[in-house]
Amino acid sequence: MSDMIRGDRRVLVFSAHAADFCSRAGGTIARLTEAGSNVHIVDFTYGERCESPALWAREPVPTIAQIKAIRAREIEAAAAVLGATSECLDFDDCPLVVGPERLTQLLDLLRRHQPDLLLTHWHRDVMHPDHMAATEAVIWASRYCFRPGIDGEAPPVPAPEVVFYETTLGTAPVARYIPSLFVDITSTIERKREALEKFDAQPGLAERYGWLARYRALEAQSTAWMKGCEYAEGFVRFGTEAAGFDGAPGFGP
Ligand SMILES: [Zn+2]
Repeated sequence: MSDMIRGDRRVLVFSAHAADFCSRAGGTIARLTEAGSNVHIVDFTYGERCESPALWAREPVPTIAQIKAIRAREIEAAAAVLGATSECLDFDDCPLVVGPERLTQLLDLLRRHQPDLLLTHWHRDVMHPDHMAATEAVIWASRYCFRPGIDGEAPPVPAPEVVFYETTLGTAPVARYIPSLFVDITSTIERKREALEKFDAQPGLAERYGWLARYRALEAQSTAWMKGCEYAEGFVRFGTEAAGFDGAPGFGP
């Protein structure tokens, strides 16, 4: 059970690379849109360098522009399966660097969309600096979007709830990611799989993140009284004790 799923939400889902939003939160996105909520996906990059292995294996390797074009089609197709809209900021990956101008762009994006919920990477997804850079920027924007007198084209809006999704598969213990909020995606796992299969540049996502969804469901059954849950996605709410803000370095402002 989760109060995260409602039909009246305005949700922005941030994703450092092309498919991150889908592998970590695709089932939840589908549940939100099925309930009637508005979900817009914002990819920071196309994952053109870091996360397009099948394209880099081609001979000859496509150009960066060609890779971006392929990945743009994949993002759009996957988002459509989930009932969401999408855009890519094309900030360039590996490394993803979000400087002052891009932060202002992000602040304006939040103020224009007026979301009440943001989904983004775990703030200490230490095995991929791009993921941490994305979330540092998302938190920056979420903590300044409501303040007057800060540069931007749009007026201030209320601060949205921020929720972190999974780390890269297999790295949760290293990144100390312990989900404390579970969403039952048993009813949407097939849509999630269908969406993940749009990402030809990253083969195997549906299978691998299917294992994770099964495992998170076991945790949800055992710790969140979610009997009958067969597939789940795990999250951590920003600002909760379980988020583990213990003074370790990670992000600003
Ligand atoms: Zn990624």
